[in-house]
Amino acid sequence: MNKSVAIDGPAGAGKSTLARQLAQRLGFMYVDTGAIYRTVALYTMRRDIPPEEVVPELAGLDIQVEYDGQGVQRMRLNGEDVSEAIRAHQVSRRASQVAALPEVRAFLLDFQRRQALEHSVVMDGRDIGTVVLPHADVKIFLTASPEVRARRRLLELEQRGQSARYEQILQDIRDRDRQDQCRSIAPLRQAEDAVLLDTSGLDLEQSLAAMLEIVHGRQDT
Ligand code: C5P
Repeated sequence: MNKSVAIDGPAGAGKSTLARQLAQRLGFMYVDTGAIYRTVALYTMRRDIPPEEVVPELAGLDIQVEYDGQGVQRMRLNGEDVSEAIRAHQVSRRASQVAALPEVRAFLLDFQRRQALEHSVVMDGRDIGTVVLPHADVKIFLTASPEVRARRRLLELEQRGQSARYEQILQDIRDRDRQDQCRSIAPLRQAEDAVLLDTSGLDLEQSLAAMLEIVHGRQDT
């Protein structure tokens, strides 16, 4: 019987790093759902079309999710590996816009559910515990203050050799929080049965330990 761990939370809470490490520790597959929204966003940017114009093209989109030997998720758009390109700062904002379109969410829902049927997964996103996997074995809502999240994002971008300003990132994080929390479909919110974990004062190692404790405490995963 496959198991599932749903991890939701705002941008920059450390979800993807922690979810990937948690999946490794549990021997589960890690599914980064944000990367899929980002790939749809990148498509609209490359085509130079506004977000909503992707809707009639969804069925024909050539988007593929692959996993390498280490269980790292790679994204392909029209055959090209766009795993790095989708991390650009401008793609984040556009991803939040395409993710607010009901047609885009409906289109991606099936794919996400299929992954959890076929494998034991740690899946991260915004609506995993509330919409995609409402019966997940464990649900964690991961958060941190906007300032802490902005500092982490800045560091991450700098490590990738991309330049950015702290104030701009903080503003973007606040805008994205608002857009993700206020949209009418699948807004970002904590599922009633999710455990809240605030990582503002924790480093990665401490956060991972806290997550493992939650997982083991919830059931015999
Ligand atoms: O997590 P990440 O920052 O990569 O996600 C990019 C954007 O995709 C988010 O700001 C959010 O708007 C959207 N998203 C979503 N639902 C998910 C995952 C991501 O709406 N399950």
